[in-house]
Amino acid sequence: MNYALRKRILVTGGAGFLGSHLCERLLAEGHDVICLDNFFTGTKDNIAHLLESPYFELMRHDVTFPLYVEVDEIYNLACPASPIHYQFDPVQTTKTSVHGAINMLGLAKRVKAKIFQASTSEVYGDPNIHPQPEHYWGHVNPIGPRSCYDEGKRCAETLFFDYRRQHGMRIKVARIFNTYGPRMHPNDGRVVSNFIVQALRNEPITIYGEGTQTRSFCYVDDLIEGFIRLMDSPDDLTGPVNLGNPGEFTMIELAETILELTGSRSALVHEALPQDDPKQRQPDIGLARASLGWEPTVALRDGLTPTIGYFDALLRRSRDARI
Ligand code: NAD
Ligand code: UDP
Ligand code: UDP
Repeated sequence: MNYALRKRILVTGGAGFLGSHLCERLLAEGHDVICLDNFFTGTKDNIAHLLESPYFELMRHDVTFPLYVEVDEIYNLACPASPIHYQFDPVQTTKTSVHGAINMLGLAKRVKAKIFQASTSEVYGDPNIHPQPEHYWGHVNPIGPRSCYDEGKRCAETLFFDYRRQHGMRIKVARIFNTYGPRMHPNDGRVVSNFIVQALRNEPITIYGEGTQTRSFCYVDDLIEGFIRLMDSPDDLTGPVNLGNPGEFTMIELAETILELTGSRSALVHEALPQDDPKQRQPDIGLARASLGWEPTVALRDGLTPTIGYFDALLRRSRDARI
């Protein structure tokens, strides 16, 4: 790569599911990547294959503490993302979102870096309009079990826009909808990983509630393409921009598709619906289409196949390790 085009890019949460795919993509484009992680939910296995590159650097650090490095761009992804993980230590979750955003914005301000925030569809809460466009302000319970994540992410967005208004910073805010793919955590309790692991083990598939609630699932490669396009877009495009796949499925439909693709004998069982579980979620991606020329290209079945392959290999390895 032309040296002048090589950027020094910091990815916080780089050893996690999305972060590891992003680091991989940025390295493939010839950039110099610093992957920062405290390994709360991320693992070294996710980025072990990148360590041999001289342009990849791994840093153990917690974003709630200040960080002094010199970089051109920052992707701020550090934050536990699944309900099980973010509710494990809710105060730390809020600190990670809020103090993490302040530190990364302070860093970006000092070194004049462009900074990207991995926000979430959870800022819409349990939405009462459908699908959700970016101008919808959301319907969030401020004191419920999901609030540490939802309100932490909302406050992070506030900080990004205040730093822009106060300091003229170059910011990019993506609101990410449910994403799946290889390197999801097998025990994170998210629906795609749960159903696939249960199906591969021929254990009952746990449908919470009636299973008529909907989600829209985006394959990881599509999402990372959206990240790159947003980061590279003109400075006046700050977001928030919804990134997700508008294809909407009920949890029953998801379970049936996974059963078919795995050839599993698992039965469906119903369990209690968690508190504040959103009933419907589907992104309106009109803004991403118009401003980034972006839309997902991978259909649910096509993305589930490599994801199932990943979990199958992971389960085989852990079985072999126990023998
Ligand atoms: P993940 O849990 O796999 O990755 C998060 C990473 O952040 C992990 O590697 C974890 O160890 C690290 N981390 C957590 N707290 C940290 C801290 N204080 N300091 C440094 N590192 C820390 O989750 P993911 O799915 O890859 O999510 C990445 C980002 O995208 C998160 O900010 C999440 O909120 C956002 N997001 C993800 C989804 C999705 O469907 N995967 C949807 C919406 C938003
Ligand atoms: N910060 C950091 N790295 C830097 C610059 C700042 O981690 O290179 C942190 C620092 O801890 C600070 C926060 O970012 O508290 C916010 O910085 P800012 O300059 O906006 O505010 P201030 O330093 O006045 O608190
Ligand atoms: N869900 C389910 N069974 C599971 C795990 C989750 O039916 O084993 C449901 C959950 O209640 C929610 C949907 O699947 O309605 C998506 O859950 P997930 O935790 O993946 O994402 P989020 O609720 O954060 O969108």
